[in-house]
Amino acid sequence: MTYDVIVVGARVAGAATALLLARQGLRVLAVDRAAFPSDTPSSHQVQPPGVERLARWGLLDRLGDAPPTRRVRFESSGAVLDGTFPAGGAIHSPRRTVLDHALVEAARAAGAEVRERWRVAELVWEDGRVVGVRGSSPGGQDTAAHARLVVGADGKRSFVAQAVRARAYRHRAPRSFASYTYWAGVPMTTGELHQREGLAAAAFPTNDGLTMVYMSAPLAAFESFRADPEGAYLAALDRCGDLGARVRAGTRAERLRTTPDLPNHVRPAHGPGWCLVGDAGVTMDPVSAQGIANALRDAEGLAGAITAGLGGTSPLRAALAAHQRDRDRALRPMYDFTLRLATYHSGPAERLFLRTLAELRRPAEVERLFGAFAGMSPVDEFFNARTALRLAAARLTDNAARRWSSTPAG
Ligand SMILES: Cc1cc2nc3c(=O)[nH]c(=O)nc-3n(C[C@H](O)[C@H](O)[C@H](O)COP(=O)(O)OP(=O)(O)OC[C@H]3O[C@@H](n4cnc5c(N)ncnc54)[C@H](O)[C@@H]3O)c2cc1C
Repeated sequence: MTYDVIVVGARVAGAATALLLARQGLRVLAVDRAAFPSDTPSSHQVQPPGVERLARWGLLDRLGDAPPTRRVRFESSGAVLDGTFPAGGAIHSPRRTVLDHALVEAARAAGAEVRERWRVAELVWEDGRVVGVRGSSPGGQDTAAHARLVVGADGKRSFVAQAVRARAYRHRAPRSFASYTYWAGVPMTTGELHQREGLAAAAFPTNDGLTMVYMSAPLAAFESFRADPEGAYLAALDRCGDLGARVRAGTRAERLRTTPDLPNHVRPAHGPGWCLVGDAGVTMDPVSAQGIANALRDAEGLAGAITAGLGGTSPLRAALAAHQRDRDRALRPMYDFTLRLATYHSGPAERLFLRTLAELRRPAEVERLFGAFAGMSPVDEFFNARTALRLAAARLTDNAARRWSSTPAG
C-alpha cells in the first residue's frame, strides 16, 4: 500500500502530525521503535499554547489526573514573582507515558495506521527524492513502505535528518545538563521556577499525586555533579528557598534521571520528499521548557502545509517553504532567550528589571512576564528597553504616590 505520508517517530511531534493529517482524510502510517505507553528522558511542562492546542484537538481530558497549574512562583536573585498567565492560561505537566500515549491513540482513532516497535533502518529513494522507508519490528523481516512524503519526527538525533543530510543552522554547543525525578508527599498548588547563579530549578505537580522536581546547571559542572548525583541534586534544591527541605520531607518515588545530551540546533523543515518536525527540526535546551509546545505548534503548521500541498490547494513546495518561514519566525526570539537562560547567569540590568517588577506588585505586569516565559507572546516583546523604562516610570509614580500619601496634611 502507498501512503500519502509516513511519519517516523510517534511522540508529541509525530503522533500529533499523524493525528492532524488523518483527520484531514490523508492515508497516514506512523511508526515508532517504542511501544506505548512509553517514557522518554524529558520532563513535561506543556506551556499554555500547547495546552490550548491539546484542548482544541479534544485531548485535554485524556491526560489523567495531572492537575493544571494556573499560578506560578518565580524566584530569581532575590526577586519573588507570584502570578498567573494571561487569558486564564495554564501549564499542564502530564507524564510522557500519558501524553504520548494519548496522542498515539488519538492518531489511531482518526484513521492513521500506527506501527509500534517498528524501527526505520533506511530511507527509500527514487530520482533524488525520498519515497518511503524500510524497517522492521524486532525479529521481523525488513519491509518497505512507500509514501508521497516521509516526515522525520524522530527526535533530536533524527535518523531521517541524517539520512537526507539536512544541514543544521543556528547550531550552538550544549550548555547544560539536567537532572530530575518524582516525589511523593511534596504537595504543590502552584508551579515553581527558581533561577540562581549557576542553577535553574522547577517543580510542577504531575500524575498520580507526584511532583516532578527538575534542576539544570552549566555543562561545566557536570563532572563534579556525576561524582554524587543524588547529593548534588538535593544540594542544588537546597539553594532554592525551602524547596530542598520540602523535597527531603517527601519520598523519592522514582530514580533520578540525568542527561548532559542537550544540543541546540535548527534544521530545514523540508526537502525533496521529506519533512522534519519537533526536535528533529528544532532542538533547544530544555531550560525554557518549550520543546513539547513547539512540537505541537510545528505539527499543526506542517500538517496544514502538507494538507494544502497534497490536496492541491497550493503547490507543495511553496506551502512547506511558507511553513518553514513561519516556524523560524516564531522560534527565533525564544531560541535566543533560551540560549541566554542556559548561561545560568543574570547581569545587573536583568536583576534590576526583575527586582523592579517584584517591587511594583502589579499583577498585570507579572502576567505579561509569565506570558512571555510561556511562549504566549514573543519573549522579546516583553524583555526589552521599552518595558524596562515603563517599569522604572511606574516605580517612580508609585514612590511619589507613597510619599504624597505619607506626607502629613496641613
Ligand atoms: C531533560 C529534558 C527535559 C525536558 N523538559 C521539557 C519540558 O518540561 N517541557 C517541554 O516542553 N519540553 C521539554 N523537553 C524537550 C522535549 O522532551 C522535546 O522537545 C520533545 O520530546 C520533542 O518531541 P518529539 O516528538 O519531536 O521527539 P521525541 O520525543 O524525541 O520522540 C522521537 C521518537 O522517535 C522515535 N524514533 C527515533 N528514531 C526512530 C527510528 N529510526 N525508527 C522509529 N522510530 C524512531 C523514538 O523512539 C521516539 O519515540 C525536555 C527535554 C529533555 C532532554
